[in-house]
Amino acid sequence: MPLFTPGEMAKGGKSISLSLVPKCGACGLHKTCKTKKMKVFGKGRRKVLIIGEAPGATEDAIGRPFVGDSGQILRTACKQIGVNLDDDCWSYNAIICRPPGNELPESAIDHCRANVLNTIKELDPEKIILLGTAPVKSLIGHVWKEDPGGITRWAGMQIPAVDPNSWICPTYHPAFILRARDEVPMRIFTNQLRKAFALEGRPWTKAPDYEKAVRMELDDAKAAASIRVMMSFGKPIAFDYETNMIKPDSQDARIACCSVSSGDTALAFLWRKEARKAMGCLLKSQVPKIGYNMKFEDRWTIREFGHAVRNFMYDGMLDTHVLDYRTGVCSLKFQAFVLFGADDYAEPVKEYLQSKEDGGNSKNRVFDCPVRDLLLYCGVDSFLEWKVWNLRRGKK
Ligand code: SF4
Repeated sequence: MPLFTPGEMAKGGKSISLSLVPKCGACGLHKTCKTKKMKVFGKGRRKVLIIGEAPGATEDAIGRPFVGDSGQILRTACKQIGVNLDDDCWSYNAIICRPPGNELPESAIDHCRANVLNTIKELDPEKIILLGTAPVKSLIGHVWKEDPGGITRWAGMQIPAVDPNSWICPTYHPAFILRARDEVPMRIFTNQLRKAFALEGRPWTKAPDYEKAVRMELDDAKAAASIRVMMSFGKPIAFDYETNMIKPDSQDARIACCSVSSGDTALAFLWRKEARKAMGCLLKSQVPKIGYNMKFEDRWTIREFGHAVRNFMYDGMLDTHVLDYRTGVCSLKFQAFVLFGADDYAEPVKEYLQSKEDGGNSKNRVFDCPVRDLLLYCGVDSFLEWKVWNLRRGKK
């Protein structure tokens, strides 16, 4: 039996199940626009919510989203894929009062986020299409907890979000398509909309709990026995180290814990005695190994056992680099979010894994981290590494 029983982790209070209050006093945009606090428009028959950036001059004058020049681009693209914007969708914006001169103040996205979240809660859409950077910052900035960056990082993705239980599909803002005056961006935009509308239902019938898949074992002998059993099946095994610095070259460099996963569950354990020895056998064996950033695990394995990982079969990070040329998309945390809706499970351990100084030879505080948090994080890592491999080879 594990000494720790994995329980529910605190989710950081980011759920959208609570009603929130917009900060109109601090924002003040309602004082300068004609249509104040523009309402949702559309019948939403296909349960799709489209969120743009902010009302333009025409929208402000008429009092409806997507009726100006950019809106006509969106309507044309929707028509091409058999969608009637006003009947099939709800239309809304990340900032619902027109900013003067169409300059989008970054602070207004934060001030107005409550309106976006309350609207999602009220409409309960199956799909949420985000047009441009402002709605990405508003919604993804809320559910993912990290700085999401701009739309280029996200365009074309279909994210199976857990809360809300909706597909989040970011794409370019039609104003960008309008300015490009080129057929190619319009085709890309239309295709991304087509793929979003083609998604069926909601992403989850039952919300996944990746932490429940992790068994944390503090008894070295038991951890070693479980590793040997896992090895005996000969199935590919994902593994992950947590270390006190990035590079293993310094004499102070230490592995704190490790985890292994062969698909259904993950085993996380401290790096000591018999468990370490059993890992040595596994890493020397021909059992196929899965990792995420193989060179990191390889270097640490060489330091620990004097040889590289045998039969390293798959590296999720390398694969992601090949599949997607964009920057900022290759980390396991990013892929775990966009592929499986896993939000930032690193939050409880983040402060312990960051070094004060730059460079891979600077120590972090991994040995000060609460053991339960560290093992849980490490276990989820190898569990998701295995899932990335499984998905990329075409399995669910
Ligand atoms: S943009 Fe949003 S937060 Fe700002 S005043 Fe209008 S409703 Fe309030």
